[in-house]
Amino acid sequence: MTNRRSNDSTREFPVFWRRHRLMIGLVTATLVLCGLLTLFSRFPQLAEKLYTRFFYAGLARVLSPLSAQFPFSLSEVAIYVAILLLLFRLVLNFKRRRFGKAALELLGGVAVIVLWFYFAWGFNYLRPPIEQQLDFAAAAPDSAALRENFLWCINEANRRWQVVASWDLSTLDNEIEKDYSSVFSTLNLPAIAGRWPPKFPLFPGLLDYTLTSGIFGPFFHEVHLNAHLLPVEMPFVLAHEKAHGRGFARESEASFIALLVCLRSPNTAIQYSAYFSLLGHCKQRYRPYADYDSLKQIIRPEITADFAAVWSRVEKYMGPVAEFSHKGYDVYLRANQVEGGAANYADVVDLVAGWRKAHKIE
Ligand SMILES: [Zn+2]
Repeated sequence: MTNRRSNDSTREFPVFWRRHRLMIGLVTATLVLCGLLTLFSRFPQLAEKLYTRFFYAGLARVLSPLSAQFPFSLSEVAIYVAILLLLFRLVLNFKRRRFGKAALELLGGVAVIVLWFYFAWGFNYLRPPIEQQLDFAAAAPDSAALRENFLWCINEANRRWQVVASWDLSTLDNEIEKDYSSVFSTLNLPAIAGRWPPKFPLFPGLLDYTLTSGIFGPFFHEVHLNAHLLPVEMPFVLAHEKAHGRGFARESEASFIALLVCLRSPNTAIQYSAYFSLLGHCKQRYRPYADYDSLKQIIRPEITADFAAVWSRVEKYMGPVAEFSHKGYDVYLRANQVEGGAANYADVVDLVAGWRKAHKIE
C-alpha cells in the first residue's frame, strides 16, 4: 500500500513538472531576480562588476548590433504584438470562462516583461553613482554656487550660439561615437561595445504625446529619437540615449555623460546643443531666486528664440497623456531607486557643479 502510493507520487511528479514547468521556471527566475535586486542594492560594486561590466557588456556586444540591422524599432513592434496577443488570449479565456487561467497568463506575461527588463538592462540602476566612478563630489549647490554655474552656462552657450542646420544622421552618429571613444578612454570608464544607431518610431505620436525627446529601448538595446526634434536638440538627445546604452541608467548621469561627450566634439553646433540643454536645467533650477529675471536678460535673444521654438514644438502635445506618462515615469524611476524620480533630470546641474569644482573649470 505504502509502496503503491509512493510509486504513484513519483509518477505524478514528472507529470506535475511537465504541466507546470513554465510557471515553475518563471517563479524560480522571479525569486532569483528578487535576490539579485536585494544583493545589488546593498553592494553596488557587485552590480558594477558582475552585471554592468560582465553580463551587460557581453549582452550589449551581441544584442545591439543585431537590433541595429533592423531599420525600424523592434521594441515598438514587440509592444504592438504583445498587446494584440494579450487581448487575443484574454478574449479567448473569457469566452471559455477560464478566468483563473486568464489571470495566471496575465501574471506570467508581466513576470516575463519584468524579468527581461532587469536582465537586459535594468540592473544598471543599481551601479554606484557616476561621481564615485569619476571620483568627484556632487552635491546640490548653494544659491551662490547655483548662480555662478547658471552664469557660466549662459556665457558658454552665448559664445557657441549658431543657427543649427539639419543633421545628416549617420554623420552625426559617427561623430558622437568618436567623441564617446575619446571621453571614455580619457576618463577610464568601461567601454561597453555596441551599436546604437538612432531609430524613429513608426508612430511618431508615441513620443510626441508623452513629451519624450528620445528613449532607450532596454529590451532590444535600441536608441529612439523623436522625429520632430529640432536640429539644436538632436546631438544632445542622441548622446544622452547612447549613454543609457552604455549602462548609465539614471537620467542625470546620462545627461552628464552626454554633456562631456558633446563638449569633446570639435563641432561647435554639437557643443551648443549640450549647453542649450544644460541651460534649460539651470534656468529651471534658478527660477525661484529674486535675480532670475535679470540674469535671464544676459542670455542671447537668439538662444531665447531657440527655447521658444522648442516650446512651440511640444506645447501642442501637452495634455492628459503627457501628464499620465510623466507621473508613470516618476513612479518607475522611484521604484528603481532614482532619488527625486522625474526631477532627477535636473540633477545634472549638481553633477556639472561638482565636476567644475573638482577640475577647476572656469
Ligand atoms: Zn534618458
